[in-house]
Amino acid sequence: MRVAVLSDIHSNLPALEAVLAAAGDVDAVWHLGDVVGYGPEPDAVVDRLRGIGALGVRGNHDAAAVGGVEIEWFNPDARRAIEWTMGAVSPSTRAWLAELPERRTLEGCELVHGSPRDPTWEYVTSLPVARANLALLGGRTGLHGHTHIPIAWVEEDGRVAVLGPSDGSELSLRGRRALLNPGSVGQPRDGDPAASFMLFEPEQERVTWRRVPYDVDAVQERMAATSLPASLAARLSVGL
Ligand code: ZN
Repeated sequence: MRVAVLSDIHSNLPALEAVLAAAGDVDAVWHLGDVVGYGPEPDAVVDRLRGIGALGVRGNHDAAAVGGVEIEWFNPDARRAIEWTMGAVSPSTRAWLAELPERRTLEGCELVHGSPRDPTWEYVTSLPVARANLALLGGRTGLHGHTHIPIAWVEEDGRVAVLGPSDGSELSLRGRRALLNPGSVGQPRDGDPAASFMLFEPEQERVTWRRVPYDVDAVQERMAATSLPASLAARLSVGL
């Protein structure tokens, strides 16, 4: 089985299309939340994911977009984008987002947006946080997003190793517990504007990270036609 694992698509349809094309013939598409927010095409992104039967979880932006209290915690630009999104989405998009669970187990892997400990909000950005969350994993493999930075936290002999993957990086888990982050499809924040995702083979316990350039100008033009903050369009050019 070969799975494309996508996170933090953020209403960016050109990035999603580029990633799906690069993933090629996969058996499943899993997403780790923040399907909407920031970007200009929430309905089109949700329709595309629904059309391919993607399974996933709810991110903090998805929760806020359907009226959750999460919006209280957003910075001003993120909040303006969510307010725009709330006014832009169709009832069917809203219903699809509202039905996303906080966590989900697929093929023995635990899917969350933030972390196993706090599936909507926690950022796994340090060794102590990664260690605490590895200890809470139901199975061996946790898939998470939220930070918009591709990374792997792998437990070995009581220690936690960190891997900062780039395009084409492969990892064989060989029974080790791991938290794997595919990076962000629609708003990368590691200085590389290319869309980021993972190809995952659960039976082989093998994962490959990929980066895919996409038409950033096209998204920025679509954003310029909305009242979304200009800073959110500008950051896509630099991947920050
Ligand atoms: Zn996000």
